[in-house]
Amino acid sequence: MSAKNRPQKPWSRRSFITTAAMTAATLAIPGCSRKDKPALSMLSGDFDPLRSYPYRGWEDFYRKIWTWDKVVRSTHSANCTGSCSWKVYVRNGVMVREEQAADYPRISQDLPDYNPRGCQKGGCFVEYVYGPQRLRYPLIRTGERGEGKWRRATWDEALTLVAEKLLDNVYNYGPDTNTFFSVIPAMSPVSFCAGSRLANYIGGVFLSFYDWYCDLPPGEPLTWGVQTEACECADWFNSKYIVLWGSNISQTRIPDAHFAYEARYNGAKIVCISPDYNSSATHADLYFQINPGTDGILALGVARLLLEQNLIDVPYVKEQTDLPFLVLSGTKRFLRQSDVEPKGKEDVFYLWDARQKRAVPTPGSMGSEQKTIQLNGVDPALTGSFSVQLANGKTVEVTTVFEMLKQELAQYTLDKVASRTGLPAHEIELFAKELGTRKPAMIIHGAGTNHWFHNDLINRSFILLVALTGNVGKNGGGFNHYVGQERVWPEHGFFQLAFPEGRKKQRFQNTTLWSYVHSTSKDPHLYNGKPIDWYIQESVKNGWMPLWPKGGRKPRAFIVWRANYLNQAKGNEILESSLWRDLDLIVDINYRMDTTALYSDVVLPAASYYEKVDINTTDCHSYVHPFGKALEPLFESKTDWDIFRALAEKMAELATKKGLKPFHDDAFDWNRDFTQLAHDWTGKGTILGDEQAANFILANAPETKGMTYQQLQEKPQRFVATDPEAWNSDIEDGIAYTPFKHQLEKKRPWRTLTGRQQFYIDHPWYLELGEALPTFKEPVAEKYPLYWNTPHGRWSIHSTWRDHRAMLRLQRGGPIVYMHPDDARKRGLKDNDWVRIYNNVGQCVCRLQILPGEKPGRVTMYHGWEKYLGFQQGGWQSLTYIKIKPTQLIGKYGHVNFRLNYWGPTGNNRDIKVEIEKAKV
Ligand code: SF4
Repeated sequence: MSAKNRPQKPWSRRSFITTAAMTAATLAIPGCSRKDKPALSMLSGDFDPLRSYPYRGWEDFYRKIWTWDKVVRSTHSANCTGSCSWKVYVRNGVMVREEQAADYPRISQDLPDYNPRGCQKGGCFVEYVYGPQRLRYPLIRTGERGEGKWRRATWDEALTLVAEKLLDNVYNYGPDTNTFFSVIPAMSPVSFCAGSRLANYIGGVFLSFYDWYCDLPPGEPLTWGVQTEACECADWFNSKYIVLWGSNISQTRIPDAHFAYEARYNGAKIVCISPDYNSSATHADLYFQINPGTDGILALGVARLLLEQNLIDVPYVKEQTDLPFLVLSGTKRFLRQSDVEPKGKEDVFYLWDARQKRAVPTPGSMGSEQKTIQLNGVDPALTGSFSVQLANGKTVEVTTVFEMLKQELAQYTLDKVASRTGLPAHEIELFAKELGTRKPAMIIHGAGTNHWFHNDLINRSFILLVALTGNVGKNGGGFNHYVGQERVWPEHGFFQLAFPEGRKKQRFQNTTLWSYVHSTSKDPHLYNGKPIDWYIQESVKNGWMPLWPKGGRKPRAFIVWRANYLNQAKGNEILESSLWRDLDLIVDINYRMDTTALYSDVVLPAASYYEKVDINTTDCHSYVHPFGKALEPLFESKTDWDIFRALAEKMAELATKKGLKPFHDDAFDWNRDFTQLAHDWTGKGTILGDEQAANFILANAPETKGMTYQQLQEKPQRFVATDPEAWNSDIEDGIAYTPFKHQLEKKRPWRTLTGRQQFYIDHPWYLELGEALPTFKEPVAEKYPLYWNTPHGRWSIHSTWRDHRAMLRLQRGGPIVYMHPDDARKRGLKDNDWVRIYNNVGQCVCRLQILPGEKPGRVTMYHGWEKYLGFQQGGWQSLTYIKIKPTQLIGKYGHVNFRLNYWGPTGNNRDIKVEIEKAKV
């Protein structure tokens, strides 16, 4: 009998102890050394407690956890900017777990790779898919909005209700009373396009999101003429000086933070500028615990030092910026060709050639014949005043933008900057010196600074620093803003699918303006002595900003998908009691019951991220990868594509049944034949399913030429090219993507009025409000003592995952506000107290956590908590309100024109102040 088949003697606790004791005793015998190994032989034989167990099936149970029937590649789309590829494992028709796919092709051996990417939220999504918040059936409200009373409906009933109302609105009130809201196409463009196509064909208003969420950095469209252009995160590794400015990458860029920290092994230094000592600050070589709202003055103080200490890149500044451009000393407007020539152009400008000692036109401006910014032997003067003769014969004085900037910066003395920011003067000097000498240097920019009212000025001051030091357009350098996953790489294919009849035939609307005007929101502040309403009226009257519906009519139907409008809206209680009440129909298409769904009239259940076909891209890397159907949509849910297709079919069916004549849409001279809606929506029957839609995008964009959806299921693919219409650099083999190489290396004009990085905006409102140049303005005055800070957090992506069991267990399980111990002591508050947070807008009641890392004078609540999650009263948006900045309402100024998600007022929320007291609960 072999040892294997020999019957086993059961092991008792006594025999185990005896054997163990004998072994120990034997090992202790002198001479019985390891070398002789006599004692170990005593352990041979029957020492296998598991074999004597009568029941061994439990082992199989554990083994089966790691078995599966199929694996499908998918990802998440909550606007996390991560865009991480995951494998979803399915067994017996149940999604059992996910794993990071970890097969992004490497860009270069000289760069760390993107593998594996993910975060803890992505690692527990399968549980969310089956969670109690999951929507399973179409629901129609039976109680008050938000009351939570519903009845289950059939798809046919729910779609008929919605289709009837949309058609009714078009014919009785106008197509612009139907409003559509969805966010961030890059995170799932097929889902986005499903609804935007319907808006396009029925003449509905399509709302913006990137500006409304204050993710848009308005300084980029102003200075660079772009929406947002940032390097992919692998390029952080190329930097020698990384400034984390208002960006807590350890919490909000979890898959990518390693590139910055690994850059330190490549010789980089890290600076962290943030009022709180946060988890990214622990990695910094230099940490600035700056006073809230003073980032702009720090940047301008540093700019002054760069100029004073000759730390600027003069040839770069002369070629790549508008700083040498001439400005009329009297009117403070750029000197234009129309000033010096009888029929001269408004968009041709001048600089002073130090060699020829005369004003010469600058090449490459918007009106210039020359499509290059190459100076061709001209040596622009940066400083001084000069005389020029105008077309009317008068001689006038001109100076340069640089000269004016020098005068502007003179006020930001080191003492003043140190005192206002609360930072040591010698460390500010050190920062300026290192920024000016360590090349390349970059600013990683986040919502921490972008959410302030004067975000445009803050952005422009930051961009000034990296432009003065010649860092923009170089690998490892620049101003890299990451707040939101706004940019769709295969842009051309996306736009064709999203707005098939063209963007010119679409009603677009800035959401900040729409929400403000159609609600009882009120901004009490005056701007240059005038209320914001005056600026809004002027802007709309001048055609700078659109305002739909026109003529004082109100919006009637609101369709939301892939978004949580009400929860994330500034001053959401004000909106709820006005705009929301005025809407006749609110439809929410969603896979979970969030705040917007709860306050809707009809809820349509959508497929989750693991039950649909789509694609996903981000600014953070240069790859495209897919969503896949691990399972068919669960319960009665449908993919967004199928929902909007069914809605288009229902509208066509009703239009036919009712014999509706085509509606003539005067705004576009378009006869909208609703009986043909389903035919039109499906591209005349060519794009029926979501895989066809994904392939349409891929096939119609240079970035993804030759790729198919099926190939993406194999592994993520790096983009093969960039559309020169849309991008400012090429995709290069072996090199991380960074923007503006076309301008720096190929000398192509910047997409601005002046054809340069434009720091001077001579629009009348900018001149009137003193913002023609980057300048520092204090945060908006509020009477309460504590800044109300609501940043992106670690345990959720906005409101998604906020209610996930696993995420709640990583924190205190409900909304908490963080406060510095000194502030708590002054108010007699203890850790975990229930507190009332209030201002003159509203209040909320939640628990307090005392946190030494918080800045005194500020309190923080990580954003996104649903209204119904753990507050005794109110919510985190109960204290905010919409504040529109007048200068963000301008248009028809060269490159500054309204464009959805590119230019329009932002929904800022950092200047809010509150007081806190112990709550009576
Ligand atoms: S939630 Fe975003 S960051 Fe997290 S794993 Fe998913 S895609 Fe990546």
